Amino acid sequence: MKNSFHHAVPDQHGYFGDYGGSYVPTELQLIIDEITLAYQQIREEPAFLDELSRLYRHFVGRPSPIFHARNLSARYGTDIYLKREDLNHTGAHKINHCLGEALLAKKMGKKKVIAETGAGQHGVALATAAALVGLECDIYMGEVDIAKEHPNVVRMGILGARVIPATHGRKTLKEAVDAAFAAYLADPHTQLYAIGSVVGPHPFPMMVRDFQSIIGNEAREQFQQMTGALPANLVACVGGGSNAMGLFTAFLDDAEVSMHGVEPAGRDLATPGEHAATLSQGEPGIMHGFKSYMLKDEQGEPQEVYSIASGLDYPAVGPQHSYLKDLGRVSYGVIDDRQAIDAFFTLSRLEGIIPAIESAHAVAYALQLAEQGERGSILVNLSGRGDKDIDFVIKHFGAEYGVGSL
Ligand SMILES: *Cc1c(COP(=O)(O)O)cnc(C)c1O
Repeated sequence: MKNSFHHAVPDQHGYFGDYGGSYVPTELQLIIDEITLAYQQIREEPAFLDELSRLYRHFVGRPSPIFHARNLSARYGTDIYLKREDLNHTGAHKINHCLGEALLAKKMGKKKVIAETGAGQHGVALATAAALVGLECDIYMGEVDIAKEHPNVVRMGILGARVIPATHGRKTLKEAVDAAFAAYLADPHTQLYAIGSVVGPHPFPMMVRDFQSIIGNEAREQFQQMTGALPANLVACVGGGSNAMGLFTAFLDDAEVSMHGVEPAGRDLATPGEHAATLSQGEPGIMHGFKSYMLKDEQGEPQEVYSIASGLDYPAVGPQHSYLKDLGRVSYGVIDDRQAIDAFFTLSRLEGIIPAIESAHAVAYALQLAEQGERGSILVNLSGRGDKDIDFVIKHFGAEYGVGSL
């Protein structure tokens, strides 16, 4: 299936309405302008699009299927379908944009891609793409996360990437961002900073969306073939917002399709620091080089945020989501830790599919829609598989769900 990357937004300065843009120091802006120019050229090049399509098909295993979850559907009285991004090589949607970014870096003559990672999912996907395309790869990771996420650290090493510990402050994701940023500024000519979601300064929100839009392009066609109609509802979890934009983009002009983004309510939506529900609880502001809804503390610094799903705990959100929220085109709701874990077991036991805890937020929301009386079909983006989460889930929730510790 061919990707077409022509969309109404952003404008040429990277704005989605009021949101997006590029708020970075002048010397960095010059480098980012080069990336924008290079991307604008290659997004039109048949050779690039063909190469990306070939890798999606033969390396990632696309198209990912849509699965009609009949057991869930019967239990909840609504037809529920899953877009199976969990079946992609490396187990989630992130490989879709990592391949695009690695190919861009190669075309630009860069030697290396760099990025930060929290739980290691973005790091593993980027290390995979770098190995395939023939680039070096440096992944910055907090020392605390390195200790916690041992299997992903080992994977990156096997794939030939260097994992560089961030040793200051709280030694987690925020410090890893600082370290990666400093390394990038020190040598922006031989490296490309491969951002891991639809966030950061222009062109990254546009570029990552374009690479992820394969999800919705496939899903729109597959769903019509399966059912003869479009889905009545789309549901996707929102951390930075890349898997959600990937699904939504192809349907934005279909007024009959309702869209729902799901943010993490964590332990408590009413307490700052205990959730990461940016669109529900945040306000417009500027952070990490772009304007969007964000969660800030009293000093105007990025708020500490929390979710049981490490892929969802980010204090901002992609600018196109802020735009779609204000337009009212997408509605944004929340699911807390408990509801996500419950959906994790429900999907595992009714359908034989263990989801990533991130994706379980979207599943939980779909079940809630059905319980509230939604009778139109629901297509859920199952952004990733749960292998990475099983040890954590069993340690904390195993007894409650009748699974002995291992
Ligand atoms: C990283 C991740 C997410 C969150 O990222 P988005 O940019 O919001 O899509 C969701 N699901 C999985 C499985 C992830 O690995």
